Amino acid sequence: MSLRKIIHIDCDCFYAAIEMRDDPRLAGRPMAVGGSPDRRGVIATCNYEARAYGVRSAMSSRHALKLCPDLEIVKPRFEAYREASREIHAIFRDYTELIEPLSLDEAYLDVSESQWYAGSATRIAEDIRRRVARTLHITVSAGVAPNKFLAKIASDWRKPNGIFVITPEQVEAFVAALPVAKLHGVGKVTADKLNRLGIDTCLDLREWSRLALAREFGSFGERLWGLARGIDERAVHNDSRRQSVSVENTYDNDLPDLASCLERLPELLESLNERIARMDSSYRPDKPFVKVKFHDFSQTTMEQAGAGRDLESYRQLLRQAFARGGKPVRLLGVGVRLRDLRGAHEQLELFPGN
Ligand SMILES: [Mg+2]
Repeated sequence: MSLRKIIHIDCDCFYAAIEMRDDPRLAGRPMAVGGSPDRRGVIATCNYEARAYGVRSAMSSRHALKLCPDLEIVKPRFEAYREASREIHAIFRDYTELIEPLSLDEAYLDVSESQWYAGSATRIAEDIRRRVARTLHITVSAGVAPNKFLAKIASDWRKPNGIFVITPEQVEAFVAALPVAKLHGVGKVTADKLNRLGIDTCLDLREWSRLALAREFGSFGERLWGLARGIDERAVHNDSRRQSVSVENTYDNDLPDLASCLERLPELLESLNERIARMDSSYRPDKPFVKVKFHDFSQTTMEQAGAGRDLESYRQLLRQAFARGGKPVRLLGVGVRLRDLRGAHEQLELFPGN
C-alpha cells in the first residue's frame, strides 16, 4: 500500500458563514441561506444556531420556519461564494497542485510530495485553517489521513472549526470501531442489509471473506473488504474544467534577486499570451497571478482581482510575491485565473452540505 498524505478541507456552514461575515447583524442567531418559504424554497445551508432547532440543508424553508419561527432566511449570493472559493483555492495551491474540489467549499488535497513543514500534512492543514480564518474570516475543518475516505470522515470528526488526524499507525484501530454506515459508498439500503447480516462495525465486517462479501454485494463486496481494513487507493483528481492557465519556468541557476526576476517577466508573458489565444471560448481570462518558488522550495502565489494582464500589473504582483520570501528564486510562473462561461456547475452547488 502506497503511503500518501491526504487532507480533506470542508468549510463550516459555508454559505451561511459568508453571509454572517458580510452582514454581522445575522451572526449569533439562527439564520439560513435558501429559497423563499412561500415559493416552495429549500434551505441550502444554515448556521449552527439554526441547527440547534433541527433545521437542515435540503429541508423546505416552510418546514424550517415551523421548527424555528425566528429563522432569518437570506437569498444565496453565488458570486460571493464563488469568489470566496477561488480565494481558498489560491491558498491551497501554495501547498500542492493536486486539488480535487467536491463543491465550492470542499476539496481533497494530496500533499504527499509537498515540501512544506518538512512534509507534515498536519502542519500544512493547520496552516491552511489559520490562513483561511485570517484572510477570509470564515472557519474550515480539516481531516488528515493516508487516503480520501478516511480524510473525509476525519474532517467531520471535530467539526466545526476543528482538525482530526488519522496517522497510518492509527488506521487499523480507528477503522475497526467505525460504523459501516460511515463507509464511502454505503448508503441506507446497503447499511440496512449489512446490519441484518449482523455487521455493525468494520470489525464485524472483517470477519467476512472477500468471497462471502462478493456473494452478498457483488463487485462492491471487494470494495467493502478493503474499506473495512482502511484501504482506499482512489487518487486525488484535479478538476477536469480548468481554473487557470499558466506558464512557468525553472531556472538552471537560481535568480538571485528581484531585478533578475523582473527581467524574466516579458518572455513568460509572451508564452502565456500565446496559450490564452489558443483557448476555447468557454473560458474568459480573469485575475492575473504570479507564482514564485524560492531556492528552499517554499513557494507563494500572488493574485489581484481587478488587475489587468499588462506587464506593469505582473511586475507589481512579482514585487509583492518576491517580498514574501526575499530569497533566491528557482521557479517563476505567470498565469490568469479563468472564468468558466459554461456555468454548468451552479445547480450542483445548491446543496453543498455543511
Ligand atoms: Mg462544508
